[in-house]
Amino acid sequence: MADLIATIPPGLVIDGERVESSDGQQIVVADPATGASIATIASASPDDALRAVGAAHSAAKSWRETAPRIRGEVLRKAFELMIERRDELAEVIVRESGKSWADAQGEVSYAAEFFRWYGEEAVRIAGTLMLAPNGDKQIIAAPRPIGVSVLVTPWNFPVAMITRKVGPALASGCTVVVKPASDTPLSALLLSGILDEAGCPPGVVNVVPSSRSSQTVGAMLGDPRVRKVSFTGSTEVGRMLLAQASEQVLKASMELGGNAPFVVMEDVDVDAAVEAALVAKMRNGGESCIAANRFLCHEAIADDFSSRLADRMRNLRMGPGMDRTNDVGPVINERALVDIAGLVDDSVGAGAKVLTGGAARPGQGWYYEPTVVTQVDHDDPILRKEIFGPVAPVTTFVDEDQAVELANDTEFGLAAYVFSGDLGRAMRIAESIDAGIVGINRGFVSDPAAPFGGMKQSGLGREGGHDGILEFMETQYIAAAW
Ligand code: NAD
Repeated sequence: MADLIATIPPGLVIDGERVESSDGQQIVVADPATGASIATIASASPDDALRAVGAAHSAAKSWRETAPRIRGEVLRKAFELMIERRDELAEVIVRESGKSWADAQGEVSYAAEFFRWYGEEAVRIAGTLMLAPNGDKQIIAAPRPIGVSVLVTPWNFPVAMITRKVGPALASGCTVVVKPASDTPLSALLLSGILDEAGCPPGVVNVVPSSRSSQTVGAMLGDPRVRKVSFTGSTEVGRMLLAQASEQVLKASMELGGNAPFVVMEDVDVDAAVEAALVAKMRNGGESCIAANRFLCHEAIADDFSSRLADRMRNLRMGPGMDRTNDVGPVINERALVDIAGLVDDSVGAGAKVLTGGAARPGQGWYYEPTVVTQVDHDDPILRKEIFGPVAPVTTFVDEDQAVELANDTEFGLAAYVFSGDLGRAMRIAESIDAGIVGINRGFVSDPAAPFGGMKQSGLGREGGHDGILEFMETQYIAAAW
């Protein structure tokens, strides 16, 4: 395993070259399963980031003028290489992010699908032509690539959050600079090699890991050659980047935090709801923006649902993802562990009851036990903040109106899940919840062909589907007489 990590070139990727940081600074990458360092790589300075912008800017004209079919074929080839090298990518994801082997494999497949989907979309970018109402001209409206795009991504899906942006950017004809999360830069560097091998020309995709995110990203967003920022991460950082983007009036896509309600009505098949709850909560060990964060159960079935969910959570195997039999890995770092423990401890202090788990595992690595807490008060901070870990808090409601009211009682609006034996009722509730994504009677919702994104403070714009490509384009209207 150490060999695979050692084969990843540790330099920044600028204009197709692997280069050192200009001021020699480095990032030490740790394995969350042990806390030990696994690699040391270059950490970009603001000057390096601006050089990467320069490379993307120089490559922009020729990439924009490359035939859509050729751009699509580069993405298609990258998809195939990712599938061929699925185990290799999964190993790197496991080592630097801590997720389970099954989650890492699932991430690689999901991530690769964005390249396949946008390889196909590259040749389906269409505009409109219409005669003006007064007949004096033709109105030609055509989408054009917006230009150099800065892509800033989080650690929880270190490959998929990059392909979800790079796929549509490249398909539309944009060149990019990727700033991956500093906890998980190795997957980004490995992916960059795959894009090279797929025929992506130098300068089209540049990668600048940096421990100085605010300076490097700030420098890029202040550079007039940049026209777009696409960010996935916390709402707190998203707000700051939106403010910075306003200086140059950049087009901005924001995929931000969530606080997904999982609504269980009294007419469900409880076992089916529990299985889906396990997926919605525990995919990626709970470290997902669309993870079920609040279980809202009808009071008639809350005890039954909670105890069955606790039984399933208790039986999950926790340990390093490199042992493929483990279901749940460690959380990303010590700070995350302390935050999760704090939320649970405070909730218990305020009267909530632990059915299973409820503590960090002593010893090596950053592990928190799969946990179910019940009798959680509606105002408990554990229902207001993103837990981002393997903890399921359960609270109750008395009727459908209260379920919807509680579901909407948050500034977030990314995902929601609704369970009911009556599909009409489930649809009615789904339409009343202010969330960009709703799962009805299922816990897994992500799909590269679907528009993914949040309402309220969970974001702006959509990734995936046809919408995703338009985030990297702007419409030009030509008034023509002939
Ligand atoms: P984060 O906001 O701390 O960091 C995200 C990225 O921004 C990283 O690359 C980081 O280095 C960079 N960054 C941090 N501070 C910055 C600053 N001041 N200026 C510029 N860049 C900065 O988020 P995270 O902890 O990496 O990821 C977890 C968060 O991401 C959660 O809130 C989660 O819900 C969210 N997320 C959202 C989606 C979505 O699609 N909506 C998907 C995955 C994760």
